[in-house]
Amino acid sequence: MFSDRLERARTQLQTKGIDALLVGPSADLRYLVGYEALPLERLTLLIVPAEGVPQLVTPELEIARAQDSGATRFVELRPWGETEDPIAIVRDVLGGPGTFAVQDRLWSSFTLQLQDAVEGSTWVPGTQVMRELRIIKTPEERELLREVGAAIDRVHAQVAALLRPGRREREAGRDIAELIREDHDEVNFVIVGSGPNGASPHHETGDRILEEGDAVVVDIGGTRQGYCSDCTRNYVVGHPPEGYDELHNVLEAAQAAAVQAVAPGVTAESIDAAARDVITEAGYGERFIHRTGHGIGVEEHEEPWIVAGNDLELRDGMAFSIEPGIYVPDRYGARIEDIVLVTSGGVENLNNRPRGFVVAG
Ligand code: ZN
Ligand code: ZN
Ligand code: ZN
Repeated sequence: MFSDRLERARTQLQTKGIDALLVGPSADLRYLVGYEALPLERLTLLIVPAEGVPQLVTPELEIARAQDSGATRFVELRPWGETEDPIAIVRDVLGGPGTFAVQDRLWSSFTLQLQDAVEGSTWVPGTQVMRELRIIKTPEERELLREVGAAIDRVHAQVAALLRPGRREREAGRDIAELIREDHDEVNFVIVGSGPNGASPHHETGDRILEEGDAVVVDIGGTRQGYCSDCTRNYVVGHPPEGYDELHNVLEAAQAAAVQAVAPGVTAESIDAAARDVITEAGYGERFIHRTGHGIGVEEHEEPWIVAGNDLELRDGMAFSIEPGIYVPDRYGARIEDIVLVTSGGVENLNNRPRGFVVAG
């Protein structure tokens, strides 16, 4: 799998006339060689040349971790000791000025030193190489996304029982995190937005005590075998607050319309429009304050962006969220989020819990 990815990266470098790709600790490093390097002040840098064996510049004290990751099957290690200059090693590997792609999240402290060390070079963003690789999921990646999607569905199946009146968001959130951990390797985030807190899309958890008549947004995700889940459902404690029923119906219709619109060849922005049109026609347009979705894979948020202005055509193998929301300040909010996969025949839903709000408590 990793040798195939490295090969595809080399193909991108060759077709784009780039001499090497430089990747620090990041999702791209995990994606290319399976190494979860620590983001340290000491330089770890993968250098993938357009031709030849990739080199991994590694602090000596990280060698064991690099080896344990299995990355050394695909790369040659270039260890550096505490008194050596890692930038000089990179300069030697690069062998002079050229065109280099720098991974987006490489710290500027390293990038600036590299630019000084290999003067006269052209520097381009690493996405020019990585984008095409990561945006289309391979059959193995699709399977891992299915599995992690099913795992987060199993968590949502147990959430209603945790949202009892008198409990704090934080307490419910802790229990939900426990459930995520049972079936994921990492908990990425737990949003429990009760009552007015639900109107803030990225509210995590706080001290607010759940009450009868609260609407609660629960948006949760984790990582399992390197791939991310992300799913939102809405709950009400006791009876739904006034106006909420109608709002939720609109949201369900909007989310369904966007899912149905997914097919190869249609644009990312048309998926956003499919959801937004339903919400706008129902009079809630100004309360849908974010894009409809984001790509997902080894990162929680990655390309493609499902947003107005993005005329990217969807292709078989793209995976992204469809998560319209309606937010009424000081009262409540609601969002429905599924991860979908573009298939040759249309769309496959990776989250399959019922989408209506669930009565909890
Ligand atoms: Zn978000
Ligand atoms: Zn989410
Ligand atoms: Zn999301």
